[in-house]
Amino acid sequence: MTPKVRFAPSPTGYIHIGNARTALLNWFYAKRNDGLFLLRLDDTDRERSKAEYAEAIVEDLKWLGIEPDETMRQSDRTDVYDAAAEKLKAAGRLYACYETPEELERKRKRLLGRGKPPVYDRAGLNLDAAEIAAFEAEGRKPHWRFLLKDRAVRWGDEVRGKQHIEAGSLSDPVLIRADGSYLYTLPSVLDDIDCKVTLVCRGEDHVTNTGVQIQLFDALDATPPAFAHHNLLTDASGAGLSKRMASLSLKNLRADGFEAMAVASLASIIGTSDPVAPHTSMGALADLFDFGKLSRAPARFDFQELEGLNAKLLHQLAFMHIEDRLAEVGVAGGEDFWNAVRGNLDKFSDVVIWWQVVSGEIVAGKENPDFLNRAAEFLPADPWNETTWGNWTKQVKDATGVKGRDLFHPLRLALTGKDRGPELSVLLPLIGRDKALRRLKD
Ligand code: GLU
Repeated sequence: MTPKVRFAPSPTGYIHIGNARTALLNWFYAKRNDGLFLLRLDDTDRERSKAEYAEAIVEDLKWLGIEPDETMRQSDRTDVYDAAAEKLKAAGRLYACYETPEELERKRKRLLGRGKPPVYDRAGLNLDAAEIAAFEAEGRKPHWRFLLKDRAVRWGDEVRGKQHIEAGSLSDPVLIRADGSYLYTLPSVLDDIDCKVTLVCRGEDHVTNTGVQIQLFDALDATPPAFAHHNLLTDASGAGLSKRMASLSLKNLRADGFEAMAVASLASIIGTSDPVAPHTSMGALADLFDFGKLSRAPARFDFQELEGLNAKLLHQLAFMHIEDRLAEVGVAGGEDFWNAVRGNLDKFSDVVIWWQVVSGEIVAGKENPDFLNRAAEFLPADPWNETTWGNWTKQVKDATGVKGRDLFHPLRLALTGKDRGPELSVLLPLIGRDKALRRLKD
């Protein structure tokens, strides 16, 4: 069977770096195993699911370099879910319950008060026809629970090793709400069956669900896929990343000028045994991928680490990888210019600032005008190369006796308008003699 994985976000918000981790791990698994990647939009929550979020998810994945082989949405498959629900009802595995949320809460509190686990008491299972008729006459609509079998569910998790869940200690899960809409569980299992998903890779917050889901695969006469539950990302305080944490949404990271490969590198490498480093291609990240490298502990996401990684990625990015983007922002300096300035970029957009320094007009800083005038007199004749700066400053030093910071800082400030930046030995030839002279003497 062709290996097949799925990434199954709910389009109820923008996806963040933690969701990116799930998507990337699935993608790398598919790449490494000649498999298929399915994007499944879990949009059974009719009120909170929005088309704009679904579109943003597709766009965000594309930005990362993920192009799904197939895309589907659960809202298109209600008929399939309805048919399966009828089958489960007929088999006695799906039963109607009439408690209101308040009644359920009271039951829960009562059990907790007696020091018992708050497991649903299956009252719905024992209702007779007259009791059901009375509830219906009150206008109550049932919600539907899946009758779990009281036995341990076991599976070998690709990340966590041998797992088992005692289904007898869980409440029978609600599969269908009183308004007829489906919770995520039944649709997810049916989709995994019908789409022939061979491996479910998702966050470890779904480990308990897996116990329920494996029983559901059995009840639907299907073989469960393999499972891999990866560690989750937390924020700096150790709290989970919420979907609505706007600053870490891929949309915002992109708008803030982060490189997709910096985000992909960090999202997929933190919390593994590999050192966090920027990689410039998805192929390179796929080569690193191995479920065995994932730690069991949560991985702490640090925004500064992302900033550092972004800069590092740019510093080592070869011209051929960036040529087109330089052209897009009107930077025409070619490979020499890129190599001269890349080491000073935090974000790609900074390149425009240095292009201005090299090719446009700047406000030259005048720290010591007399000294600058004097220095200008020693500017060598063309042609200039990378030795020009060293030869020139040596001459200025010999002639004026000025050295160290007093020598270099006023020159840098006048020539670039900035306190710091790329090596002047490489920048000066790019600025050229005419502009250098003007900036020193203006
Ligand atoms: N829609 C679910 C979620 O976003 C999918 C979980 C799964 O991959 O099974 O958590």
